Amino acid sequence: MSEKKSFETARETLKQLTLRKLPPTPVNYKAIYNEIAGIPSVEHFPAQELRGIASALQAKTPGQQRQKGLLESSIDRMNWDGVRAALVAYASFLPIGTESGNPSVPVALMSDTVPALTPEFLAQMGRLIEYAQPALGSDDQRFVEQSRELIKALKQPAIDIVAVKQLLVNYSHRLSFAAEDQAEIKNALLKLLHLVFENIGDLSLDEQWLKGQMDALKVASAPPLSLRRLDNVASLLKDVISKQKDAKEKTSLAQAEMRQLLAAFIDRLSQMLQSTGTFQEKMEESARLIESAKSIEEIAPVLKDVVGATRNVVKDTLSARDELQSMREQANSTQAEIAKLHQELDRISTQARHDPLTGALNRRGLEEALEREISTVRRKETPLSVGLLDIDNFKALNDAMGHAMGDGALKHLAQVARECMRPQDTLSRYGGEEFVILLPDTVLEKGIEAMTRLQRELTKRFFMAGTEKVLITFSAGVAQLNNDEPGMEAIRRADQAMYLAKRAGKNRVVGT
Ligand code: GH3
Ligand code: MG
Ligand code: MG
Repeated sequence: MSEKKSFETARETLKQLTLRKLPPTPVNYKAIYNEIAGIPSVEHFPAQELRGIASALQAKTPGQQRQKGLLESSIDRMNWDGVRAALVAYASFLPIGTESGNPSVPVALMSDTVPALTPEFLAQMGRLIEYAQPALGSDDQRFVEQSRELIKALKQPAIDIVAVKQLLVNYSHRLSFAAEDQAEIKNALLKLLHLVFENIGDLSLDEQWLKGQMDALKVASAPPLSLRRLDNVASLLKDVISKQKDAKEKTSLAQAEMRQLLAAFIDRLSQMLQSTGTFQEKMEESARLIESAKSIEEIAPVLKDVVGATRNVVKDTLSARDELQSMREQANSTQAEIAKLHQELDRISTQARHDPLTGALNRRGLEEALEREISTVRRKETPLSVGLLDIDNFKALNDAMGHAMGDGALKHLAQVARECMRPQDTLSRYGGEEFVILLPDTVLEKGIEAMTRLQRELTKRFFMAGTEKVLITFSAGVAQLNNDEPGMEAIRRADQAMYLAKRAGKNRVVGT
């Protein structure tokens, strides 16, 4: 461009500045000058300032280091897009450091409207989770572990925000279940209390029963609470209460009967007294007649009267004795009936849902436990497997060692099963020498493993028949509950698989 031309351009630039009412700053001047002279407008790239920012950024984690490097090379290449991308990516790796000396000052880049994630704030969040933990129970071990991990992560001086976010997501997912469980436990507990309070007036037959119920309630309400335990106690109480009502009615009837007997007895006694009174009078009169008799002929009819009266008294006494005897028998049997009722009541309060020999649940207990597990399965969408085992050649064992030893073997198997299962698994006696084990949160493969583990355990822990070691083996079938499948149907499938295990040679586990 010639000197004359640049002079003209400069004059034109000043004119345009005035016309456009722009402040005469160097930047505005340059922009209009370039426009008039047709020079392409190249934006200023603040490399120096950006390098200042880049050098102030920390690079503690590999992610931060990488993004800081990318930022620096983008500045070198004056690449705005690269600078933006590197800064955005760097922000996702931001630690909340304490090096600033003032822990309440966030070192992260924060927007003006969102409160800063200061270390204090995060530590407070950790404390909140820690304090809330006891209220959420400790039944779910995975949830307890997740809380512990999260609390630990939140207390770290340099927090990996991405990792914490993932922990928070997992925690809140599980939290929803834990909170739901707690709400259900609370409801079940309240229902239980209502049940007791509503019926407390009826529990006046025997103080021992009342004590038993209160004990059960104490046990049920002792921590840690579980829905399973509360449910058990609730159904137990229902049983006892209905039985008590029944017993109360029967006892009232028996008492009425006793009262009637007593009244009859008193009646009879007074009749006897009356008849002996009449006899006494008769005797006295006869004695007087005999004394005043002048001849033997006068005495004879008197004697005849005496004999007749005596005979009547003897007859009366005998029949009274018979009557009293039968009354006593009746009273005894009523008494025995009441005693039997009491015994039955005692028994039912511990055995309504349990098999008395092995302590495992009985059929009724199993049905209820299954219903409970299935409602959890549907709610939490977790798997449930059922294992059905049948002792091999049990009849032969009974025949060889006697029924009592057979009973001992059943007890032994139940004991080993209980010790080798997880606390959440449920053992029930399905039939004579058949047991069903409910395995919550267990897929088929793991269910087969669990039953095989029990089988191995039995080869280590022999049943001692006196001094003789007896190896108990069983055949088992395992089924995993299908969607919408009734629980009993899954047990039926496990039974079929057990049958296949028998056919294949016994002492094995078959899945279906
Ligand atoms: P398999 O290997 O095919 O299962 O043969 P098994 O002999 O075990 O089966 P079977 O069904 O022929 O016999 C079961 C036996 O279990 C018959 C019965 O007397 C016995 N039994 C059932 N309940 C009890 C119990 O409570 N106590 C005892 N001691 N024996 C029982
Ligand atoms: Mg059988
Ligand atoms: Mg058998």
